[in-house]
Amino acid sequence: MGFAGTQYTRDHKLADHFYLWEMVVSDDYPKAAEKIVLSELDLLAGGFLLNSIIEPTRKFIGQVFRVQSFKRSLQLNAMVGGSSTSQHPWAEAIDFTIPDDNTILLDVMKWIRDNCFYSLGQAILYVDGQDYEPRFLHVSTLPLRSKKKSRHKILYCWDGKYNLSPPWA
Ligand SMILES: [Zn+2]
Repeated sequence: MGFAGTQYTRDHKLADHFYLWEMVVSDDYPKAAEKIVLSELDLLAGGFLLNSIIEPTRKFIGQVFRVQSFKRSLQLNAMVGGSSTSQHPWAEAIDFTIPDDNTILLDVMKWIRDNCFYSLGQAILYVDGQDYEPRFLHVSTLPLRSKKKSRHKILYCWDGKYNLSPPWA
């Protein structure tokens, strides 16, 4: 992990419960994630996402959020199969799980919709196509640098398809 033009270290806190190193993680490709160089604008966008949406939600829910993916290099985005319009390369999106109780991710998404509406680009609950178990939650800000068109939207994704309604509806 490197920084362009800043003196920050990996243990710098971007929000009360989130460290800088959590911006450059990947379960499948940790080495590619470690090579990411964060710019000042990455820190600004990531800090905005955390402090306007993720940290208030984390405080309300009172559970540990485990970051799966946050800032991606274009190379890492391609490796994980991210879309070409992904907000991850702009540090505008985060994916996380709740290790102690992942089943509450649905409620977490609804809380974000109801309480962080104006900053929310989109929240996508990824669920298992078989048993509808939540897998992880993707949350983005309104686009700051990316060209993403989504505004204030919540979606459900399973079997690779994005839907306005959950699979159990
Ligand atoms: Zn994502």
